[in-house]
Amino acid sequence: MEQRLLEALKDISGNENVATDETGLLAYAYDATRLKGTPGAVVRPGSEEEVSKILSLASEREIPVVPRGAGSGLSGGAVPCRGGIVLSFERMNRIISIDTKNRIVTVQPGVVTADLQAAVEEKGLFYPPDPGSLAFCTIGGNVAENAGGMRALKYGVTRDYVIGLRAVLPSGEIIRAGVKTAKGVVGYDLARLIVGSEGTLAVVTEITLRLIPLPEKVITMTAFFAGVRDAGEVVAAIMASPFTPRCLEFLDSDALGAGARKIGYALPEGAGAFLLIETDGSLDEAARQMNGIHALLKNKALQTDITQDKAASAELWKLRRSTSQALFSIAPHKINEDTVVPVSRVPEALEGFREIASRFAQKIICFGHAGDGNIHVNVMTDRADPERLKAAEEAVSEVFRLVLSLGGTISGEHGVGLTKLQYIGMELSAAEIDLQKRIKSVFDPKGILNPGKIFP
Ligand SMILES: Cc1cc2nc3c(=O)[nH]c(=O)nc-3n(C[C@H](O)[C@H](O)[C@H](O)COP(=O)(O)OP(=O)(O)OC[C@H]3O[C@@H](n4cnc5c(N)ncnc54)[C@H](O)[C@@H]3O)c2cc1C
Repeated sequence: MEQRLLEALKDISGNENVATDETGLLAYAYDATRLKGTPGAVVRPGSEEEVSKILSLASEREIPVVPRGAGSGLSGGAVPCRGGIVLSFERMNRIISIDTKNRIVTVQPGVVTADLQAAVEEKGLFYPPDPGSLAFCTIGGNVAENAGGMRALKYGVTRDYVIGLRAVLPSGEIIRAGVKTAKGVVGYDLARLIVGSEGTLAVVTEITLRLIPLPEKVITMTAFFAGVRDAGEVVAAIMASPFTPRCLEFLDSDALGAGARKIGYALPEGAGAFLLIETDGSLDEAARQMNGIHALLKNKALQTDITQDKAASAELWKLRRSTSQALFSIAPHKINEDTVVPVSRVPEALEGFREIASRFAQKIICFGHAGDGNIHVNVMTDRADPERLKAAEEAVSEVFRLVLSLGGTISGEHGVGLTKLQYIGMELSAAEIDLQKRIKSVFDPKGILNPGKIFP
């Protein structure tokens, strides 16, 4: 990157907050997909004003800028595939205010999601979205990806909690979008447009989130089944009942085996599928919901364990939480898709994924947020082997075709980024893609903000 530009970046954010050395750049070259793109510089701004100055400079010189949270994204969103400046938010990590009277919290984008949750819980309030990565991902990344999580089934996703934000446009202009009140309908809802825009429309510098009261009680149950069909039928039965668990998580037999091996868990004899179910509310309500759900599945389950104790619940969660990492250790270059189908069609989808695996001679392992139909489909391939990768990509196309034919979507929470570029046309028409590209060019006429993402 040109020396004069680097000097200008150092003048804005300070020498110590601009990295150009090989190691410094390498650390920001990847996200969790392990796709790579080398930036020309990494800048860690300390304020919105600095972000604005950096963007005006980049816009003037037509240099790509890639916003970055923790780099835990699973679609390549934070990968600087066209070089340029990575704008990393680790210094902008302050909880600005927790307003208990109005049940809102205002934060900088670099706050780690789990830290935000812990801070509001201390005040008896609850921020429900809980991506599996919450211990390290940032709220800025969650907003940009409209992250979901285990509790989305009952409480919704990030978008349902963002009521307002501040952002910097690629030109350097600072805008406010949304409100800090319970209602607000003045003009277009730009906050909702920016949420889920994968860092391609504006750089988010401040976020206001609505909070709800912390539920009094949480009850956790794990249930093991002989196979995927039984578990899938139980998921459909629960969702057709009057009960609404806050989590309804699913592991198929391979995911279960991998997770159990990773943490040394002795599975019940014959276990071929697993559900983790949580209910919450007042003590009576949480118990009423859990008893109802238990009655629905007890004849099909091989074993169930239920607890109201926090520490015992964390033990029950270990199997579910260990899965993703366990599968990464088996196949570091696996393809991980996050398909969604209407929940009533989960059994058909699981059956279909099995058929596709056998037709394309691929190992496909499924787990995920079954209660909202969000199944993570893991094709255990090796991206480094072109032959195996080609067959795996054909299987992925078939998976997407099946999901769309069942009325679903090809991505529930990870976004398009780089990994789904080639598939976006399967779900959106040419006219829909064209409209979205025109929206992008209104925000970013020079195409400098996170270029190469979403649109083929
Ligand atoms: C083990 C594991 C489990 C996961 N589980 C879930 C899950 O349950 N649910 C889920 O939804 N996701 C999950 N993810 C994916 C990932 O954690 C989320 O997408 C998360 O929101 C990314 O946050 P991040 O801070 O790491 O963002 P990054 O990966 O750094 O960036 C993601 C996107 O956000 C943009 N961005 C970041 N900050 C800003 C900003 N301030 N302004 C504008 N754009 C910005 C980037 O440009 C990029 O496009 C998981 C990932 C892993 C590794």
